[in-house]
Amino acid sequence: MQVVSPVLPPLGSAVPPPAAMPETLLPRRIRDIATQALAPLAEDIDKGHYPEAILRAFGDLGGFSQHLAEGHALGDTIESMATISETCLSTGFMHWCQSTLVWYILNSENEALKAKLLKDCAAGKRLGGTGLSNPMKTIFGIEQMKLKGERVEGGYKVKGLLPWVSNLGPDHLFGGMFETPDGKRIMAVIDCADPAVTLKACEPFLAMDGTGTYAVQVRDLFIADDMILADPAMPYIKKIRAGFVLLQAGMAIGLVRDCVRMMEEVRPSLGHINAYLEVQPEDIAAQLEAIEAEVFELAKTPYDTSDAYWKRVVSARLLGGEASVQAAHHAMLHCGARGYVAAHRCQRRLREAYFVAIVTPATKQLRKMLSEMP
Ligand SMILES: Cc1cc2nc3c(=O)[nH]c(=O)nc-3n(C[C@H](O)[C@H](O)[C@H](O)COP(=O)(O)OP(=O)(O)OC[C@H]3O[C@@H](n4cnc5c(N)ncnc54)[C@H](O)[C@@H]3O)c2cc1C
Repeated sequence: MQVVSPVLPPLGSAVPPPAAMPETLLPRRIRDIATQALAPLAEDIDKGHYPEAILRAFGDLGGFSQHLAEGHALGDTIESMATISETCLSTGFMHWCQSTLVWYILNSENEALKAKLLKDCAAGKRLGGTGLSNPMKTIFGIEQMKLKGERVEGGYKVKGLLPWVSNLGPDHLFGGMFETPDGKRIMAVIDCADPAVTLKACEPFLAMDGTGTYAVQVRDLFIADDMILADPAMPYIKKIRAGFVLLQAGMAIGLVRDCVRMMEEVRPSLGHINAYLEVQPEDIAAQLEAIEAEVFELAKTPYDTSDAYWKRVVSARLLGGEASVQAAHHAMLHCGARGYVAAHRCQRRLREAYFVAIVTPATKQLRKMLSEMP
């Protein structure tokens, strides 16, 4: 596989503390990578190219360590993900995978694990993601846990199959959860380099094929105590759940911004006829503004465990998925035939938009969760 280097030179390999770069510079460098290095690759990524060099470039800049700043607010990370998703949702999603892995490690009380992995994951030196779809669905009564484990000397022995985990490769990591025979749930970081872990190619998707997504088979994998994120997992899940869900808003915000842009781009030539369409770019932009305001407000306090806050997080996530699909649909109606040709990004954005609505927690799960809340 050909790996194209980003145009911009990396700024250094150490994890830059978020304050190391002037506040205005980091977003600008991320935008530069997105528009100069990522944009020409977006079509290849759509067809299956895994943009490892781009991800490492974001890591070099500190793009996965913004939420390590004091207070662990998530707004800057969401904004970075949005900037990337304006160009390519696959890469925005992989930014989410990596940022969420960092979020897991950051919030673990296992100091040995943190010492071993936090710095390298935050710097993008160790890439990876999260296999929490199945546990999230299990917790909310939709599925059964697919990874099973039992306590052994110095750790756990784990087996099972996860059908889809993204941002993976032979030496990548992911956060996962398994269940013991007595029903206890434990979260751990799983290393794909272990011979007990096999990555199996998935059949092609509608979009998102460049996201390094594999089925993961785990056969009697020994997970040492220094790879355990939380034992037991459930109190920890309450701590990380808002961050997990809120971070996904970056994908929606970026995609909707680009849909508004596409509608504006065709206004000079098609405005005379597009004016008859029911939804205009101003309508989508107004909805986007409201979503951004809510998400960035919620992102200030990701450790709020109140029911009221959680309900707002779940509602914002639901709106993000629905707004993505709506915005991409209306962008297609505005662009018309020129957006329908394979070379135009409008058709890619339409395919990508559905991913925001179906990735866990999917629209149907979010509606179930809301219906069960007080
Ligand atoms: C591109 C992509 C990337 C993903 N990345 C991740 C990730 O990084 N981490 C993660 O945890 N999850 C990942 N997922 C899974 C995702 O978050 C959802 O859990 C998944 O799409 C199923 O959600 P659902 O709401 O459709 O589930 P449901 O409608 O409840 O149905 C899901 C169940 O249907 C069955 N099923 C459906 N389609 C198939 C199929 N083609 N082959 C076999 N069984 C099938 C399986 O039993 C599965 O458990 C990814 C999915 C996709 C499409």
